[in-house]
Amino acid sequence: MKLSKHNIISRIADSDKYFIINPLYKEADILNRKEYDKLYHPEAIQNQDLINRGYISDPVEENRLYKQKYLEFLDARDTDEVQLFFVPTYMCNFACSYCYQDEYSAKPKTVEKALIDSFFNYISNTFNNRRKYITLFGGEPLLNTPGQRDFLEYFFGKTNHYKLDIALVTNGYHLEEYIDLLKTTRIREVQVTLDGTKQVHDKRRMLKGGTSTFERIVNGIDLCLKNNLSVNLRMVLDKENINNLPELSEFAIKKGWTSNPLFKTQLGRNYELHHCQSNASRLYSRVEMYKDIYELLKTNPEIKEFHKPSFSISKFLFEEGVMPDPLFDSCPGTKTEWAFDYTGQIYSCTATVGKPGEELGTFYPDVFLKEDIISEWEVRDVLSIPECENCELQLACGGGCASVAKNNNGRILSPDCRPVKELLELGIAHYFDVLNAENLS
Ligand code: SF4
Ligand code: SF4
Repeated sequence: MKLSKHNIISRIADSDKYFIINPLYKEADILNRKEYDKLYHPEAIQNQDLINRGYISDPVEENRLYKQKYLEFLDARDTDEVQLFFVPTYMCNFACSYCYQDEYSAKPKTVEKALIDSFFNYISNTFNNRRKYITLFGGEPLLNTPGQRDFLEYFFGKTNHYKLDIALVTNGYHLEEYIDLLKTTRIREVQVTLDGTKQVHDKRRMLKGGTSTFERIVNGIDLCLKNNLSVNLRMVLDKENINNLPELSEFAIKKGWTSNPLFKTQLGRNYELHHCQSNASRLYSRVEMYKDIYELLKTNPEIKEFHKPSFSISKFLFEEGVMPDPLFDSCPGTKTEWAFDYTGQIYSCTATVGKPGEELGTFYPDVFLKEDIISEWEVRDVLSIPECENCELQLACGGGCASVAKNNNGRILSPDCRPVKELLELGIAHYFDVLNAENLS
């Protein structure tokens, strides 16, 4: 018997207590100093409470459970829904100060009907028995041009025919012009980015030429909600707009958005994806960003109504009262996510789509797949990344993002370490009554 390889133990922020979490055995507890010290005492290996909860375990038995859970994970993933991104254009009417796609060459081109037909043939054959939905991505998929409108009408005709849901990732500027068309199809969600209240947003997300975009986006969100279309509001954060989070929360509350069940939010981190940003000093590391959000949450409770951050698995633990299943892989690319563009290329996901050298094949004019690179993507998980083998965080981290890992280390099968421990320190302090609680699950 010994301490489990999967115990994650650390001190809770702003507290003298500790947490112990074991994603393999799905246990989580709060420890006072005495209990924490006991864990490392030689007698701990005979402590029946610790053995029952899996914090102390037999390595052979633990290995057996690990393998069983891994097989269950693979089975569950095989039946998961697949998200298929389609990029009809890399062109955009915005000139966002931080856009990672601004170096892509975006030539105006109408999407050929034959290419759209080939796309639907390809996904029907390849993902024949899988649940799936399509996300339109860009560039900006809702450009207000006759060519783009023709494309959308034809594309929606196809998704209606195949009974596929559509999600849209849009800057929101032309929602008003497209709302009637959107109502003719199965829209699952419209994701719109708003980076703050008017002054802050307009400084970051303006039209090419500098025109303000805030009012039109807000109007577009109102229109979607009025027409029963779900809205996922994304705020992209860096050090320049983080302090506007309370104000944007207040704004969304006053608009009645946060009390609408069709409305949800996400906080995105502005980070260097493909090329150096002109002002890299404003960028956050993941830990820095969540530390600042944690501090803001203490003094601005309105944020909670706008967004509940996950802080790794803390939010799940709090809301569900149980631990999530062990996460053997956190990167959906080529497993439950693929991306396709209007030139007929196939990519792993939104991080690689349109990036020269990242193509995994074509679906038009001919179907061709780079099987060797695809299989490297497909096998990537915490078992195939050598660095993850002995990491106690592996079943909460999942190995991170393959694209970031490749950018940083030059290899797909390399780690993109997530600051799981630090996020749990903050998240448990935020969600739980640490003074009085003992068990977390
Ligand atoms: S490579 Fe990164 S962005 Fe792409 S699917 Fe994986 S985690 Fe997501
Ligand atoms: S990516 Fe890093 S933190 Fe995550 S499991 Fe692998 S080694 Fe651990």
